[in-house]
Amino acid sequence: MTHPTHTTASENGGRDASRQTAAVVARPHSTQPGFADLHLHTLFSDGTFTPEELAQAGARHGLVAMALTDHDTVEGCSRMEQACGGLGIEFISGSELTAELEDTELHIIGYFMDCQNRRLQSELQKFQMARQSRVHEMVARLNELNIPLRAETVFALANCRSPGRPHVGRALVQEGFCSSQDEAFERFLKKNRPAWVPKHKISALDAIALIGQAGGLAVMAHPGLNRSDQIIPALVEQGLDGIECFHTKHSAATSEHYLRIAAQHNLLVTGGSDCHGYSKGKPLIGGTKLPGVYLAKLKQAAMEKQRPSAAVPHAPPPPVSAPD
Ligand SMILES: [Zn+2]
Ligand SMILES: [Zn+2]
Repeated sequence: MTHPTHTTASENGGRDASRQTAAVVARPHSTQPGFADLHLHTLFSDGTFTPEELAQAGARHGLVAMALTDHDTVEGCSRMEQACGGLGIEFISGSELTAELEDTELHIIGYFMDCQNRRLQSELQKFQMARQSRVHEMVARLNELNIPLRAETVFALANCRSPGRPHVGRALVQEGFCSSQDEAFERFLKKNRPAWVPKHKISALDAIALIGQAGGLAVMAHPGLNRSDQIIPALVEQGLDGIECFHTKHSAATSEHYLRIAAQHNLLVTGGSDCHGYSKGKPLIGGTKLPGVYLAKLKQAAMEKQRPSAAVPHAPPPPVSAPD
């Protein structure tokens, strides 16, 4: 499958406001020019770029806005905000949470959250602890397979609070147990391989509520990878705000499909490259760009959500079960 670039709106620079139409699927025409990448990772989770390197890469690709969506953390957001600010790039805070609904794993991104929100902070801390115990479990399984990898090696290499499988894979390569990250996943770490350990997941409904109470917008990430469109109405009912229509692994047809679903359910449209730096070969940043028209709508929705007079009382989210 070829990777879509989604740069069709570049033909008019996204500035042709006179041709705004009601058809969401039609080529977008924006009053906000330029393109954004709203799905990016740094070394605060499993990416390899620092926030500064990522912002510079964004500038090279001419992005007008970038969002940081590290897994289960918002730690990198302040540095990224500063780096983007210095380059004249608009910054949007975010985090990607691993959730589940009806036994389907899905990723939900929170955008525009108050990173200092206490409940958000304490839940993220729980997810991070669960990630750390998952690393210990994966290492224990590797040890049972006579691979003497040490958890400390993984943590030293990860050097972040949100370690994950890619870090275990990189440690296996670094210590000479595997020749590549792909081999590490293929032999040990992929789902149902001997060292695979299921990830801790929050319920999708709790994730949406958690994001909402922090003033953020909840967006279903890369739905094309889930192939579980049937869960979307339930998510919408629970307050899902948007859906990631443009993603590196979405074909043009897949993006169109989700643009139609977004229109059907009146959902916001987001998109991004899901760049993890050099984690898996060439950085993906610049390959998938969100046209400005969608960014403008997203910002508008965030403003409306955060306006005190418009605040809808949220029921406090039910407690998230402890990692074990
Ligand atoms: Zn994801
Ligand atoms: Zn991601």
